[in-house]
This record gives sequence, structure tokens and C-alpha cells, in this order.
Amino acid sequence: MEFEKSLEKLNIEFLKDKPLKDFTTFKIGGKARYIVFPKTIDELIETIKLANKSGVYWKVLGNFSNVLVSDRGFDGAIIITTKLDFFKIEENVIEAECGCMISQVARKACENGLKGLEFAVGIPGTVGGAVYMNAGAYDGEIKDVFECAEVLDEKLNILKLGKEDMRFSYRHSRLKEEKMILLRSTFRLQYAKEGDIPPLQKANEFNQRRREKQPLQFPSAGSIFKRPAGYFAGKLIEDAGLKGYRIGNACISEKHAGFIVNLGGASAEDVRKLIFHVQRTVYEKFGVLLEPEIEFIGEFETPFFEPASEYSNIEYNY
Ligand SMILES: Cc1cc2nc3c(=O)[nH]c(=O)nc-3n(C[C@H](O)[C@H](O)[C@H](O)COP(=O)(O)OP(=O)(O)OC[C@H]3O[C@@H](n4cnc5c(N)ncnc54)[C@H](O)[C@@H]3O)c2cc1C
Repeated sequence: MEFEKSLEKLNIEFLKDKPLKDFTTFKIGGKARYIVFPKTIDELIETIKLANKSGVYWKVLGNFSNVLVSDRGFDGAIIITTKLDFFKIEENVIEAECGCMISQVARKACENGLKGLEFAVGIPGTVGGAVYMNAGAYDGEIKDVFECAEVLDEKLNILKLGKEDMRFSYRHSRLKEEKMILLRSTFRLQYAKEGDIPPLQKANEFNQRRREKQPLQFPSAGSIFKRPAGYFAGKLIEDAGLKGYRIGNACISEKHAGFIVNLGGASAEDVRKLIFHVQRTVYEKFGVLLEPEIEFIGEFETPFFEPASEYSNIEYNY
């Protein structure tokens, strides 16, 4: 109540008890007690301060394109950044607020003849989400163009972090290790030279490849599993005979076995059971334990597969 009243007093927009499935790219997820939409960085920080003060559990999200939200929802405040969407390009340097769509920033950079972000034109996430997980595709990664960022640490200090401070690695950054919130980020790109494939052409070619290879007509959260060292998750899942395998309305895509798609009305538990089944089948056939790339918000009944645990004999194939 205190949290709600303070948001109203400060004129910070929020919703109460609304389903998160309306926001997730998976079209799955129960209700959140609060969904808050700060319009400025100051409002974002203020919302976090108010939540801490009122003992409201909170989580910052961007475009919900790398998460599975529990059917039971989230008993706290989901703070959505997508209204923090200002960015500017000066020469070959981009400054972007955390809620900008990385695809829009990348496309604008390509249009300006800048190379380095072509890989990101088809990634449906925000700058915050992309830096958080060092998003990448087609041999490009955020870390290749990242210069520095302003972040909020757990004690609510604003810090400026350079590339070395960010501890980037495959689908990983320091933001994941500490509860840090990216406020705005600076990227440094390269000018395309004569003889280079024009950046926009390259980006369009990548998007064409996505349309050919990925099941973009269905709701999903992209690749479900990280790439295990020396393998491709999609290939292992396909070789395990799991293409088209379905639990409830969650299904291993026929087009790309690395994607789980929502055929319509799938529950979060359907997806978790399918993840368990895939992990166990691939482990039994190839001895490789697939680790989820997506993040899980809220509470789930279905465990992850652990090779030596008591759960390993559960059957989730209905
Ligand atoms: C069809 C499809 C294709 C995809 N293709 C790719 C791909 O090619 N490569 C790739 O890497 N990913 C891909 N993804 C996954 C996803 O789009 C990326 O991981 C994206 O960067 C996530 O951004 P988001 O804003 O949606 O993050 P969210 O899903 O909203 O959040 C994910 C995590 O980031 C954290 N986060 C978000 N904003 C901030 C912030 N400001 N500060 C701190 N933490 C924050 C959240 O707390 C959460 O833990 C794809 C997804 C889909 C649906």
C-alpha cells in the first residue's frame, strides 16, 4: 500500500494484478502484483528506492524476450524499462538508455554506415537485456562494441563501468553476478570502409537467415539453451529425435530444435517439463547437460534435470 501510494504521489505509471503474459514474447506468465513503467532514469531509481523502503520484492525487465515467467506470477513489482528509450548517434559513438530496443539502435547505426551491430538487428530485446547477457549472433557480441555504461549497484550508487569492468563472456556479464541495473550504455562502432559489405545489407541478410531458420511465427523466448562447449544445442536436440516433441501446448520447434514454441495457451510448467525432458534425453544419449539460456521469473514446480538426483527418473512425456 505504501509503495502504491508513493508511486501515485510521484505520478509514476503502474498497473496492479495484471498478467505478465501480455508482455512476454512467450505469451506465458501469471500476474504481477505491480507492473511499473518509469519514464525517466530518475523515476526508475526512485521506484527501486520506494520498493526497497516498502519491502516490495522487485525485478527490472526490458522486453521479456529471454524469460519464462511462472504461471503463479510474481509477488512483487516488475519494473519495465521500455519507456527509457532515448538514444543518439554522434559520429561512430552511440549513447542509449537501457530501454531502447537494441534492434532499433542497431538498424539506425547501419543506416548511418556504421558496422559492428549488424548482428543485433533481429534481436527482440532492449539495450539493458542485451548488455546483461552479452547478447550475440552470427559471430558478433555486445562486448565487441561496448565502450562503457552507467549502472546502479545494489547500494543504489551510480557507477561508470568500462569494458574491462564488465567481465563479459559467452552470454554473461558482471550485471548477472551482482544485482546491478544498467541505466545507459555507450557503444563504439567502426565506419564501414570501401569494399566492406554495406552494414544495412549485412543486417538484412542476417534477418533473412533468421526468417528462414527460426520459427518466428510462434511465440518463444529464442534459444532455450546455451551452446555447450563443442556442440550446438539445436543439433543435439534434433539428433535426439525431439523435433516436434510436445508437452501440453509447448513444443520443440520443427523448424529449429533450439527453440521451444508456444502453440497457443501453453503454461510455464509445460515449458519447464519440456526443458526437463530435453535435458534428460540429451544427457542420456550424448552425455551433455544442456544449461538454460533463458531466465526463470517466479516459482516453478518442475525441477531441472540433474544427472545424479532423485528427480532424474520423473517421466514428463504426456
Ligand atoms: C525470436 C527471438 C530471437 C532471439 N535471438 C537472439 C539472438 O540472436 N541472440 C541473443 O543473444 N539473444 C536472442 N534472443 C533472446 C533475447 O532477445 C536477448 O537475450 C535480449 O538481449 C533480451 O533482452 P530483453 O530486454 O528482452 O531482456 P528481458 O528478457 O526483459 O530480461 C532478461 C534479463 O536481463 C535483465 N535486464 C533487462 N534489462 C536490464 C537492465 N536495464 N539492467 C540490468 N539487467 C537487465 C533482466 O533482469 C533479466 O534478468 C532472442 C529472443 C527471441 C524471442
